[in-house]
Amino acid sequence: MATSELIATGELGFWPHLGYVGSRLDRASERRAETPDMLRDTRARACLIAGESVVLRRRPGASGDDPAGAYEALIDLGRAVALGGRISEACLLGLADGVPHFVLPLHAAALAALAEAPDLLVTDLRSIAVGEMVTPEELGELATAKAMIAWHARRSFCSNCGHRLNVAEGGWRRECPECGAQHFPRTDPVVIMLTHDGDNCLLGRSPRFAPGMWSCLAGFVEPGETFEEAVRRETLEEAGIRTGAVRYVASQPWPFPMSVMIGMHAQALSREITIDANELEAARWFSREEAQLLLTRTHPDGLIAPPKMAIAHHLLRAFVEGRDPPAG
Ligand SMILES: [Zn+2]
Repeated sequence: MATSELIATGELGFWPHLGYVGSRLDRASERRAETPDMLRDTRARACLIAGESVVLRRRPGASGDDPAGAYEALIDLGRAVALGGRISEACLLGLADGVPHFVLPLHAAALAALAEAPDLLVTDLRSIAVGEMVTPEELGELATAKAMIAWHARRSFCSNCGHRLNVAEGGWRRECPECGAQHFPRTDPVVIMLTHDGDNCLLGRSPRFAPGMWSCLAGFVEPGETFEEAVRRETLEEAGIRTGAVRYVASQPWPFPMSVMIGMHAQALSREITIDANELEAARWFSREEAQLLLTRTHPDGLIAPPKMAIAHHLLRAFVEGRDPPAG
């Protein structure tokens, strides 16, 4: 069952609004070699991405100033090409009811002209997610699209011999004609954890955060490390807190540029905080009641939690509401 169906049926009842998880595409991995034929399908649709910029089309009939749901990311492939999308570098995202969906990279130089078009908007993927500007299904497709474009932008040459690589399998493989090495899209695992001790939970502030925002600690999983070990190491490194039991809660694609967030709850074994000033500007314990005020953005000191599109919001919310995550 697709994630969006789980959300619709309430089985993931506390995940509505979590960003990037709603794609319903059939990735059709066994048909990626048919991409040249699919690009001739007159029903084909495509999204356009240039680096951090995403091109959206305002839905016909959308009214008012509220951007929520007012845009679509997938447009006719022919128009996407006419707008400057490079069809020679198209990547097959998958099939929706048999209709192929692609992402086409776009030169950044083309964006200024597109921003002038009355029905187009050039924005970034975080803004799209926070504003729920497109459907959850399209937001999920955009997560794949952005990560794939980022991977291709960084993988033009063979890391084994330095030769320029060819693209195969609808963009899902690069091949070296010189040494024969094959290269596949990467996803970097990041653990993100809410550490708790009874009615208190540990949150931190990165210097990069918006003013007043407090969130879960997070860090990349290192080679040879389990997710649980990464949670314990990062919590100890960043906040000086030792943790014991670690429980998986949920995951979220995080295409900045190409990660997956592995959301965990961790049981604290110590209380005294010592921050790593290279990673955090502050860390502190919050009571369950205070954490609730962060989520509802009603804290008397103006402190806030991350928005609903971020898994940190839901890790905190599950703790505040005393809900155990689904088993397994
Ligand atoms: Zn090579």
